Amino acid sequence: MGVEKFEFQAEVKQLLDLMIHSVYSNQDVFLRELISNASDACDRLRFEGLTHSDLLPDEPFSVQLHVDQEARNLSVSDNGVGMSREEIVKNIGTIAKSGTAEFLRSMSKSNGADRKISLELIGQFGVGFYASFMVADEITVLTRKAGESGATRWTSSGDGSYEIEEAERDGAGTTIRLKLKPAEGDDAIADYTDEWLLRQIVKRYSDFVAYPIQLKIEGADPPTSTEPLNSMKAIWRRAAEEVSDEEYAEFYKHIAHDWNAPLLHLASRIEGNFEARALLYLPSAAPFDLYHREMAHRGIQLYVKRIFIMDECRDLMPEYLRFVKGVVDAEDLSLNVSREMLQQNAQIEVIRKHLVKKVLDALKELMQSDREKYRGFWAQFGPVIKEGLLDLSQKRERILDLVLCESTAEESGFTSLAEAVSRMREDQRVLYYLTGPSRERLVNSPHVEAFVDRNIEVLLFTDHVDEIWLEQNPPEFAGKKFQSVLRGEIDLDNDDEKERVETKREKEAEDFKQLLGALRSGVQDHVKEVRVSNRLTSSPACLIVDEGDLSPQISDWLRRSGQKVPDGKPILEINPSHPLLAKLKAVCDADAKDPRLADYATLLYGQAMLAEGGQLEDPAAFSRRIAELMLEAL
Ligand code: ADP
Repeated sequence: MGVEKFEFQAEVKQLLDLMIHSVYSNQDVFLRELISNASDACDRLRFEGLTHSDLLPDEPFSVQLHVDQEARNLSVSDNGVGMSREEIVKNIGTIAKSGTAEFLRSMSKSNGADRKISLELIGQFGVGFYASFMVADEITVLTRKAGESGATRWTSSGDGSYEIEEAERDGAGTTIRLKLKPAEGDDAIADYTDEWLLRQIVKRYSDFVAYPIQLKIEGADPPTSTEPLNSMKAIWRRAAEEVSDEEYAEFYKHIAHDWNAPLLHLASRIEGNFEARALLYLPSAAPFDLYHREMAHRGIQLYVKRIFIMDECRDLMPEYLRFVKGVVDAEDLSLNVSREMLQQNAQIEVIRKHLVKKVLDALKELMQSDREKYRGFWAQFGPVIKEGLLDLSQKRERILDLVLCESTAEESGFTSLAEAVSRMREDQRVLYYLTGPSRERLVNSPHVEAFVDRNIEVLLFTDHVDEIWLEQNPPEFAGKKFQSVLRGEIDLDNDDEKERVETKREKEAEDFKQLLGALRSGVQDHVKEVRVSNRLTSSPACLIVDEGDLSPQISDWLRRSGQKVPDGKPILEINPSHPLLAKLKAVCDADAKDPRLADYATLLYGQAMLAEGGQLEDPAAFSRRIAELMLEAL
């Protein structure tokens, strides 16, 4: 087979275009990316070698940098796992992550300062390889997969296509050769053939890489030393005081394939029946695919006695903490563990519990010490953490400790639940809440009026997931239940006032009995009951979900996802102190059969529906009636 030409997938083209035409302030990172890939490739072959020793190379694993100053070539070679022809087409010609196209589209739209920020986001694609096009006019990849005899040569100038041909290579592994752009002129890049610069970059970004990184400079005199450029010290085994924040950050970028520094790191040690060390990180920005089911989360890497075992060890972190990255190095596990064995491994279970506690404690600490920073974190990751509240096997109280939500008591938004409880009246038995799309929608909802009036706080939850954890198996917090202000009867008053209020309400119910009946006949298709409310102050009416019925949002989702929704009609509550109701009562007292009553009932129902952000079944009829009324009123 001769040379074959292929087009890059559209997403890759777009990405390359961004890489090449934007001035990324720190081009040095291309080398970090190539070395990371080389080191990953060695990790993978070393792991395979545990069971297939015939695949292991004769020479120890290493990463070789090779410079030809005259030709301005820099190459990075490894004797790792290599790639087959199919693999290279798949790995380097396409991006398989869902959501990429959308994300790129939004990114190419941004410009100026934004554009620079979005470039930092590029890192989350795992597109490290393409960064080399910032410094190279042409890239050649020569690769041979361990266990195969033939090799593949891949060449591209980053212009939308690449070529592939059969080739030969001594031993398995990959060599990536960059034909560097000129070091002088308008688009000049740093001189990546310079020994001093290369040493500095490796030291800075890749010191902890577990394999020796060696440098060879063609024709150099004296010949370059074979001493590795990196110390190869596992960062998680070093004393924490010895490791700088920058080193921690670089290690994070290496394992997470993220180009941004982490929000924080947590080094920890488990001692006792067995030993393990962990170094965990929380990212500073949510990856764009955080909610895609097949999110390529690299999560936690598992090592045994410093030997890399696997990426993405999902058994070490629950799903709701899937954004946590890091390394666990266990002393006493078998080197031959498989994913299946891990699931039932008691040590893994203990380590997982330890890590979860560590992460939750750190977050609680951050919440207390730096609320601003925590708020930024919560805004991005809160909805994922709250998924943990759906899992009844979790200690939900610990997750609830971390929850921030909007509230009617806090002008500027955001309170913790503990703070809300501390503001509660002594005889308040439940935490009141309302869920919906935004704070603005919720604070103005008729349902919270009476609460605000009586100085009772209502928590406002605005994420999708809130609806689910609060409605299905709601947890308790500090001995308090959660109650939706949309739902059922509410009990707002002090014990001593209660009797007075109850009597008043009974009297109102009696006074309004006839009107309630007349209104009901107007809206009986839509509501199951019309009753007098004790939760309204300024609105004339609102809709309430009966105890045990699904909330309007949940019903709506179910309906939209094509499921059959049980027919739970709401209750229409009217405000007896509202002048409109007093007028209606007068009309009804004069003639209980006045046809206008049914009309008004429909209007009350419609506007209550609109006030809570709901949808009218027949908006045209509604607006026709409004127009008629307006006309009458003029
Ligand atoms: P990332 O490394 O973040 O996944 P890259 O674009 O850098 O993204 O690489 C894409 C894929 O190409 C890698 O996931 C890996 O499967 C493969 N790859 C890249 N470099 C090498 C290498 N030196 N040896 C083997 N496979 C490699």
